[in-house]
Amino acid sequence: MQNQVDGHTPTGLGLRSPEIPKERSFIDPDSGEKIVKMGELTFPPRKVWMKTYGCQMNYHDTQRILSHLSELNFSATDEVEDADMVLFNTCAVRDLANQKFYSHLGELKHLKKKKGENLVVGVGGCVAQTEGKDLVKKYEHLDFAFGTDVIDQINDMVFRVYAGDDKFSINSWDRSNDFSIETKVVHGTPQAFINIIKGCNKYCTYCIVPYTRGKERSRRIDEIVRDVARLVEYQGIQEVMLLGQNVNSFGKEHDESLAELIMALGPIKGLELIRYTTSHPYDMSDDLIEVHGKAKKLSNHLHLPVQSGSASVLQRMNRQYTPEHYLGLLEKLRKSNPEIVLSTDIIVGFPNETQEEYQKTLDLLDAAQFDFIYSYAYSPRKYTRSARMEDFLTDDIRGERLRYLQKYQLGIQEKIRAKMVGKTFRVLVDGQSKMKGQTKWKGRTNCNRIIHFLPPEDQSELDLQWNWVDLKVTSATALSCQGEFLQTYGKRLNTL
Ligand code: SF4
Repeated sequence: MQNQVDGHTPTGLGLRSPEIPKERSFIDPDSGEKIVKMGELTFPPRKVWMKTYGCQMNYHDTQRILSHLSELNFSATDEVEDADMVLFNTCAVRDLANQKFYSHLGELKHLKKKKGENLVVGVGGCVAQTEGKDLVKKYEHLDFAFGTDVIDQINDMVFRVYAGDDKFSINSWDRSNDFSIETKVVHGTPQAFINIIKGCNKYCTYCIVPYTRGKERSRRIDEIVRDVARLVEYQGIQEVMLLGQNVNSFGKEHDESLAELIMALGPIKGLELIRYTTSHPYDMSDDLIEVHGKAKKLSNHLHLPVQSGSASVLQRMNRQYTPEHYLGLLEKLRKSNPEIVLSTDIIVGFPNETQEEYQKTLDLLDAAQFDFIYSYAYSPRKYTRSARMEDFLTDDIRGERLRYLQKYQLGIQEKIRAKMVGKTFRVLVDGQSKMKGQTKWKGRTNCNRIIHFLPPEDQSELDLQWNWVDLKVTSATALSCQGEFLQTYGKRLNTL
C-alpha cells in the first residue's frame, strides 16, 4: 500500500489514519438540526455542488463521493452560488471535457474570492490523478486534489481542509490484495452502478486510462453477488450496471469471468435487469456470447467499441483485433440472441488516417448495422503513445470526416429504428422531458432505446416515475422514439 501525500503524513488507503477521528451525529437542541461531529470539528448541514466530466465510471464515482459526504452532513445542490464546497470530478480522456474543466476551475476564482473560507474547492478524477500536485500549486483557490483511487477517503480529506490543513494532493494507487470498491448508491432510484473491475491493461495508444486508473484489479464474484443482493433487498434496487474500463477482462486474476458473474446474479429475486459496460472486443469470450442468449435478466443491448474499420488503423491504435474478428463477434452475438441491439464507439482521424482507411470505417458501419454510435474526432492526450506520432491530418479534415460519418450513420439508424414502430416494449420510467411544449414521460427499454410517451388522457396527473410500463411505439426517427402508453405494473415487477 503506497500513498503520496504531498508534504503530509500519509493516511492508509481505505483505512483511516489514527489521527483522523470517526464521525458521530447529534441533534442541536437550539436549531433542531442534525450536526455531525468528527473529533473537535462540528459539521452543520452544508451544500456541495459537484461537476462531473467524462464517462460512466466518473458519474458513478460522483455518486460514491456524494454518498460518503452525506455522512459529513453535506447534501447536493444545483446552485453553485449556494455551495459550501465545490468539487470537480475530472476526465482526462476527452479533450473537450478537459478544456471545460480548466475553464470552469478558472471561473471559480471569483466565487472563492467572494466567499473566502466559506467555500472549499476540490478536484478529483483522472486529471487529479496525474496532475493533482501541479493543480494545487497552480490554482491558488484550489484547496485539495484527489485521485481516482482514494474516493473512500473523501471525508478524511474534507475533515483535513476544515481543520485548516489545505493545499494537498492525494493520488495513491491501492496495491493491497484485499482491495474492494465499495458500492454506494444515491437513494431514491432503483438503478445502481456496481464497480466490478478497476484499471485497464490494454494500453490502446490513444488512451490515458491505464496511466490514470492503473492496472486491472477485479472484485470477487461472491462479494459482488452479496452486494447486489443487499441492494435489492434493502434499497429497492432493480437494475444494475456492472462497470469497469474493460469489464470483459473481469476476474482473470481469480480464474473467474464476467459470464459467470452474470449467471450468478440471475437468481437474485427482485433484480430485474443487468447491464454492463465497457467492453473490449479482444476479451469478448464465447462463454460471454453464450450468456447473451441464456441469461434472462441480461439487457438486450451491448456496447462494443470498435474505434475503426481499418485493420492498419486498429494496429496503430494497438486494439489487438481486426475488423473481420470484430464483425465475426457481432455475428455470433446475433446468433446467440436475435433480439440484441448493438452500439459502438468510433474515433475518426487517428494520426495519418488515409481516405482509404476512413472509407473502411464507413464500410464497417454498413456491415455492422449499429443501433447508435458515439463518434469523436481524434485529439491527442498527453502521456499517450499516439500523441508522439507524426501526423499529417488537419483538424479541418477530421471535422469533415466526423460530420460525414455521423450523417452516414443516421441514415443506417433511421432504417433500424423504423422497425420498432408497432412493437411493444417494457420500460422503466426514469423522468420527464419537454418536447414541443408538451411534458412527456420517458423510459429506457431493455435494449437501451429511450421512448417518450404521454400518460393516458384521463390520467394526466398519474405519477409514473420509476414505474414499469408497457409502451407501443407509434413513431421512430434516427434520434427519437414516441410511444403510446398501454399499462403500468407499478414500481416493482417482482419476477424472479
Ligand atoms: S481498453 Fe483501451 S481505450 Fe479502453 S480503457 Fe483500456 S486502454 Fe483505454
